[in-house]
Amino acid sequence: MRVAVVSDIHANLHALEAVLDAIDADSPDELWCLGDLVGYGPRPNEVIEIVREQARLCLVGNHDLGVLGRLDLEDFTLDAAVVAQWTRTVLLDENRAYLESLASEARVEGAELYHASPRDPVWEYVIDEETALAALEVTVAPLVLVGHSHVALSISLANGELSGAVAPDGTEVPLTEARWLLNPGSVGQPRDGDSRAAWLELDFAAGKARFHRVAYDIARTQAEMAERDLPEGLAERLAHGS
Ligand code: ZN
Repeated sequence: MRVAVVSDIHANLHALEAVLDAIDADSPDELWCLGDLVGYGPRPNEVIEIVREQARLCLVGNHDLGVLGRLDLEDFTLDAAVVAQWTRTVLLDENRAYLESLASEARVEGAELYHASPRDPVWEYVIDEETALAALEVTVAPLVLVGHSHVALSISLANGELSGAVAPDGTEVPLTEARWLLNPGSVGQPRDGDSRAAWLELDFAAGKARFHRVAYDIARTQAEMAERDLPEGLAERLAHGS
């Protein structure tokens, strides 16, 4: 089976469309989404409608839960809380119901999926050695997928040895001979210095994974954010990928 994995779309419709064009060209069997469909960005309903339609599996992220009122917005940055409040005012009932139906973790044959981490599927950032090792120690599947940090990562554990790093465009990893923790990076608000939208291709039969980046019309998303009076800093950071 071949799967395309996306995460942290954050209501960035143009980034999602660019990624889906690239994914369609690759024609995988399934699309999985690791959560944070909304928050930060200007097009929450359109993004949810696409994911509802196309993803075979989808998790809920902390921003989705903040919009739903299931996490306290005081735990978010001010800009994130402002957009979560705005999102509540525009979110259609059927899209709210879809977010309500999602869980923050999932298990499939050969993989465990978490929005944030196995220890805390909603909030913990897996971004250093300690959190990566803990994530692999409390799971059993050969492959662990996480999102949340907006940084594409590939980390392996073999014979007690942890190794890995950020995973730039084109990084390919063999899924055999080690356990892997992979973060596809973010579709809608990358923070690893590459402003292009991220996605991850998994080929279970061939035993490999490949990280991809796709350019999209950042200015168009920024203009939509300005039209809706969303915080300027959130629009600016899209251009820097940070
Ligand atoms: Zn996120």
